[in-house]
Amino acid sequence: MFVVGVTGGIGSGKTTVTDLFYQQGIDVVDADVIARGMMNPGSAALEAVKQRFGEQALQPDGGLNRSWLRERIFAHPEDKTWLNNLTHPLVREQLLQQVAQAQSPYVILSAPLLIENRLTQLCDRVLVVDVSEATQIARTASRDNTNAEQVQAIIAAQASREQRLAAADNVIDNNGAVEELPKHVEKLHELYLRLAANKQA
Ligand code: ATP
Repeated sequence: MFVVGVTGGIGSGKTTVTDLFYQQGIDVVDADVIARGMMNPGSAALEAVKQRFGEQALQPDGGLNRSWLRERIFAHPEDKTWLNNLTHPLVREQLLQQVAQAQSPYVILSAPLLIENRLTQLCDRVLVVDVSEATQIARTASRDNTNAEQVQAIIAAQASREQRLAAADNVIDNNGAVEELPKHVEKLHELYLRLAANKQA
């Protein structure tokens, strides 16, 4: 399977871009979706979180209290390491499974931390969705109803724009209007179809 890794910082437009690949008939495997689903009530991962942090990590209905956990791991690096050790192997396993099951001519593997978590090893090409930090902050703050400081703290914990661009085979500049994206995606889609066919040959 020919795998195109898609990454970008918070609010860069990964989902907006991968939706366009999906519209071209390409299967999209999303690490964020897998990570969220892994903490469903009754899952082994949620049980492990409950064991470590107690009821405070849960909502009244027994689901994960995501904002509590997010704040906890920001303030306690050892808890962040613990959580990563719990979730990363599970996410990676499911990513590989879904990639293997993909039916389209190539598959998109979308992950905010593709580079940080070395998922680039699984990819034939890396596509980076690039925006300026100011754009990132403005779009994320308006989408999530958060403030610039919170977004900035997340940006600081992710790979830098330069690190991401250094790992990129292709870049989509998403500083402009959303209407400009389809033509970029269509061009890249043609390229990836050719590269995938070459890999199979
Ligand atoms: P995250 O990593 O936080 O999940 P993401 O990289 O998947 O984010 P999106 O959710 O696709 O980013 O985009 C962030 C926000 O910016 C969304 O509200 C989206 O609708 C908006 N957006 C994306 N691209 C553009 C654009 N070119 N112009 C204006 N708004 C945009």
